[in-house]
Amino acid sequence: MDIILTHSQQSLQSRHSFALPAYARTVIELNDEAQLPNIQWQEPFWILGEGTNTLFLEDFEGTVLVNQLRGVQITEADDAWLVSVAAGENWHGLVCSLSAQGIHGFENLALIPGSVGAAPVQNIGAYGVEVGQFITAVDIWDLQSQQALQWTHADCEFRYRESRFKRKHNRHLLITQVHFALPKQWVPELSYPDLRNLPADVSASELMARVIAVREAKLPDPKRLPNAGSFFKNPVVSAERAQELLSKYPMMPQFFMENGDVKLAAGWLIDQAGLKSAAVGDAAVHQQQALVLVNHGRASGEDLRALARSIQDQVATRYGVTLEPEVRLLSKQGVDANL
Ligand SMILES: Cc1cc2nc3c(=O)[nH]c(=O)nc-3n(C[C@H](O)[C@H](O)[C@H](O)COP(=O)(O)OP(=O)(O)OC[C@H]3O[C@@H](n4cnc5c(N)ncnc54)[C@H](O)[C@@H]3O)c2cc1C
Repeated sequence: MDIILTHSQQSLQSRHSFALPAYARTVIELNDEAQLPNIQWQEPFWILGEGTNTLFLEDFEGTVLVNQLRGVQITEADDAWLVSVAAGENWHGLVCSLSAQGIHGFENLALIPGSVGAAPVQNIGAYGVEVGQFITAVDIWDLQSQQALQWTHADCEFRYRESRFKRKHNRHLLITQVHFALPKQWVPELSYPDLRNLPADVSASELMARVIAVREAKLPDPKRLPNAGSFFKNPVVSAERAQELLSKYPMMPQFFMENGDVKLAAGWLIDQAGLKSAAVGDAAVHQQQALVLVNHGRASGEDLRALARSIQDQVATRYGVTLEPEVRLLSKQGVDANL
């Protein structure tokens, strides 16, 4: 029988990038798919990758399964590279390794922290590219029924920072492997303002270097200043509502989406609501990037919750727009959707 590495009453502080002081009743480290049939699903249960999008607001009264499955396989098709990656691989490590091998497409997604297995969950995206564009299928282990499944691209229902995996009733689905197809004919995506001044014939490595430089300049490194990246999603409103807001706030950045809706910049809304120096205890709005909340050292889950609620309230009062967390906020028993 394969050994399952289980720890009782383990600190989660170093297992999530916001580094709140919290404990889990049990932590299981998954290193081999052969362990899977021995893992019992019993709620509360939480699947964790590198914890860069998960915040443990209080002690978690259940089991945390940390996915550490490793392995990358690459095969060549006529017009694309087919890449299958175990869920515990590091995302940025994969991007660098593929790029070094001349396999392109993920350059705009460079430096996004976290694991490959978490990437389909919120359909990670940056600078005009979303990971779902490249995903052909996802291998899953259903922890409840103890069987292996495979979802196609269409089954995953990718949307902006969303997928079917994110739904509450799918929390027992453990992603074990992600299959990608990266077209051999690479076309750079340069539509975002930070990339617009790159030449149309930019090389993939130049594009990636720019993306990394922009991200390093804008986003705090969680290893130095604990954070979970964008705390809130950019809210999406109807074109009509966007026009009303624009007539009142002519400088408001707006991004038109394919379906006609309009995405607003949550960071701008927070900044313009005068919340750039807002803080509760050691939980604070980051000075250079208002969309990022940071932990200056000793923030508690309650500090963070109070700060996030106050930002939500003030933005709603001023703009009539509801900010929803992009991060997963965990209470004692599971996801705390209402902050
Ligand atoms: C500084 C910073 C910058 C960031 N920038 C971006 C950005 O530009 N774009 C973007 O989209 N995101 C961004 N993020 C968010 C984060 O990088 C992504 O959400 C990433 O995919 C999280 O990976 P993780 O392994 O740390 O996930 P975790 O936090 O461990 O988990 C996130 C969610 O995925 C689930 N999950 C994890 N692994 C599995 C699995 N194997 N099977 C099933 N469910 C699983 C968890 O249950 C949870 O719901 C940023 C975060 C930080 C800290």
